[in-house]
Amino acid sequence: MRLSNRCFAVTGLGYRAPWSVNAGFITGDETTLIIDTGANAAAAATIHGYATTARPSNRLLALDTERHFDHIGGNGYFRARGIDVYGHASIQRTEDEFRAEISEFNGEISNPARRSRQESQVFYHGASLANPNRPITEDFRMELGNCEIEVLLTPGHTPSNISVYAPSDGALYCGDCLTNGYLPNLDAGPIDDWRVWLKSLERIAELAPRIIVTGHGPVATGDEVPRMLERVREILQQSIEAGRSPTS
Ligand SMILES: [Zn+2]
Repeated sequence: MRLSNRCFAVTGLGYRAPWSVNAGFITGDETTLIIDTGANAAAAATIHGYATTARPSNRLLALDTERHFDHIGGNGYFRARGIDVYGHASIQRTEDEFRAEISEFNGEISNPARRSRQESQVFYHGASLANPNRPITEDFRMELGNCEIEVLLTPGHTPSNISVYAPSDGALYCGDCLTNGYLPNLDAGPIDDWRVWLKSLERIAELAPRIIVTGHGPVATGDEVPRMLERVREILQQSIEAGRSPTS
């Protein structure tokens, strides 16, 4: 969906129940930056198709908002087409980890006959592991052609979390730093990470975005933005006080 002059979201890409995962892209006059590559090759092809159609003459770049496979499973699709993928320098996933992800995915198939036939292979058909080839270690600005965007470190959910802000359109892509409708996933790190996460939320609040594409859930606009920020902040605060995540 088109969110603004330059910003688009590709929402509801398949993942595992009850989750769907989002991606998006920002179109400058010369370059289109894709944010997140989906969980599998089919998602990557969908994102690639929309991004190419929106501005066919643009060069494409991609960026991962974090290390989890629901956001980077499509990296191989983009790298195979010579498209550079930015991501936090700590994203160095291994083939063993990718195989474990597929096997965990398979284990969640409820029908035993489908599980024993390894039908997760259908979901991951054509997907291959590729780590980002453009490591990010600090905040920076990127020029997309009459459109300068900000790439910001927003750790917390994982230490590798990154957000992208397009000031011209007031649109922020923040991956799983925020989730809309879903409980945020606090189970990927310890309490110290949750405290860091609160600081990242402060950073986001200071930007005062008008539109937020979260890692999961509907795009937030207008009054929903501060409401969603406050809801995730409260869950983090309560979890820090209780010493446990809401989903542990
Ligand atoms: Zn996610």
